[in-house]
Amino acid sequence: MSSLDSSGTDHPQSLASAIWRGIAGRCPRCGQGKMFSKLLTVAPGCDACGLGYGFADAGDGPAVFVMLFAGFLIVGLALFLEVVYEPPYWVYFAVFPPLTILICLGLLRPLKGILLSLQYRNKAGQGRLESQKRDG
Ligand SMILES: [Zn+2]
Repeated sequence: MSSLDSSGTDHPQSLASAIWRGIAGRCPRCGQGKMFSKLLTVAPGCDACGLGYGFADAGDGPAVFVMLFAGFLIVGLALFLEVVYEPPYWVYFAVFPPLTILICLGLLRPLKGILLSLQYRNKAGQGRLESQKRDG
């Protein structure tokens, strides 16, 4: 739960700061370096402060949140469209598949960034025994 500022000193990182750094795809410690080397590929480490991203493992978390948010948006929009405008079926086939793909791709990277940034902030990781923690 600490981060290095530009002077290299440790200070606690706020939740809002951690979330914003995740959305921006920036290093969870310094906020300067890039977290991703490609669209969804986590870089080996921060090019600004040298933090290794070996701890980063969001698993299926980003995909789950994307499904929840995108599902809510797409289904809500489809219901609204049907109730208010009652368009022909081809409108749904023309609008919603590309819209779904765009929303999912647009949400995946920021959500992965948020989860990885919060993982760093909260020091979340695999469970370890006390003897393993002492050894490093
Ligand atoms: Zn950094």
